[in-house]
Amino acid sequence: MQTITLLGATGSVGFQTIEVIRQLKNEFHLSAIAFGSNIEKALPVIYEFRPEYIVVKNKETKQELEKTITYNPKISVGSEGMTEIATLPDVDIVVNAVMGSVGLEPTLEAIRERKKIAFANKETLATAGHLVMKEARKYGVELLPVDSEHAAIHQCLKGERTDEINRLIITASGGSFRDKTRNELQNVTLKDALKHPNWSMGAKITIDSATMMNKGLEVIEAHWLFNIPFQQIDVILHRESMIHSMVEFKDHSIMAQLGSTDMKGPIQYALTYPKRLDISITKGLNLIDIGKLHFEEMSLERFPCLKMAYDAGKYGGTMPAVLNSANEQAVELFLNNKISFLAIEDFIQKAMDEHTIVKDPDLSTIIEVDQSTRRRVKSYVN
Ligand code: NDP
Ligand code: MG
Repeated sequence: MQTITLLGATGSVGFQTIEVIRQLKNEFHLSAIAFGSNIEKALPVIYEFRPEYIVVKNKETKQELEKTITYNPKISVGSEGMTEIATLPDVDIVVNAVMGSVGLEPTLEAIRERKKIAFANKETLATAGHLVMKEARKYGVELLPVDSEHAAIHQCLKGERTDEINRLIITASGGSFRDKTRNELQNVTLKDALKHPNWSMGAKITIDSATMMNKGLEVIEAHWLFNIPFQQIDVILHRESMIHSMVEFKDHSIMAQLGSTDMKGPIQYALTYPKRLDISITKGLNLIDIGKLHFEEMSLERFPCLKMAYDAGKYGGTMPAVLNSANEQAVELFLNNKISFLAIEDFIQKAMDEHTIVKDPDLSTIIEVDQSTRRRVKSYVN
């Protein structure tokens, strides 16, 4: 029996992780959870699994939760609380499914305690991939990807050497606005942006999919996870999202991983790796019904956020942290109806243009840049 800490328990990935744990209750014990402030969503999970530790975003949520629940778990708050439950001596696996760079410090500390990490939190790798991977190498910890594209690449790479790779081919569904021209994007609404054609996900990543920043963050994530230069990472449009990603080797052989558009597959893969267990909550693909798969070129002019992410990755230093925090802040403004859809990319580009890169930044520099970029992006609204 392996013991799990789940960061982001009330989220889309968090909830699906709980479904997988429920199906595999003879393999896994959920002992600690963290979430933001969604008590209503957390309560059924808390009563079902009775975790010994619970972490919430702030003191107010803690007080409210203490009044509500009928047993006595240890309840803590904030990033410190998440770090505490990510490093508990009895915990074997940390599932990092929080949204945003708040996942950075708990990830670093979990690596230092040599936890197995199932990793969905791409903003953390985009912000400080150099720090995370340095610690992972130092402590001999493998980050097991939960993001479907990276789980696919991880599977395609099994047993292969990275110096035998020609390129990674990351597939993109195109998001909610894939068939709109840039002109048509002028008047799109929040409601339209939240309708993803293939995947059901949290609000922030659904907007990231519409701007294509999600793919940009995934390119940076792939660069760090698999140690592949940016010029060897391609993105192609694949509307069906059946092929989750591919690897082309030096001999031009291409390996692809296929699966349904259901995150429970990659979550289960990360939790049970290197084993594959037979559970029936994910459906197989019926290739005859699917019939055809399509691939198209991805345009960096149509999707400037993807170009910005490649640029930020290639500049390196603090620039990816600026890209990520500017995006997190701009998307939050869009989700609160404060700015238009196209302002998201304008704000990110402006934040990047105004930034002076610090090379090889340490953790405190990253945190400072993350916070100051958010403040700057907020100031663009006026
Ligand atoms: P959601 O928005 O659905 O969930 C985010 C989770 O993080 C919630 O539990 C939320 O709590 C929690 N959270 C947010 N801020 C804090 C905080 N300051 N402290 C503690 N907890 C916090 O996101 P998703 O599940 O969609 O995505 C999570 C991560 O996984 C992201 O990095 C995303 O890019 C990545 N990912 C998601 C996929 C998907 O299918 N959804 C696919 C691949 C990757 P609360 O709701 O209570 O505020
Ligand atoms: Mg993905």
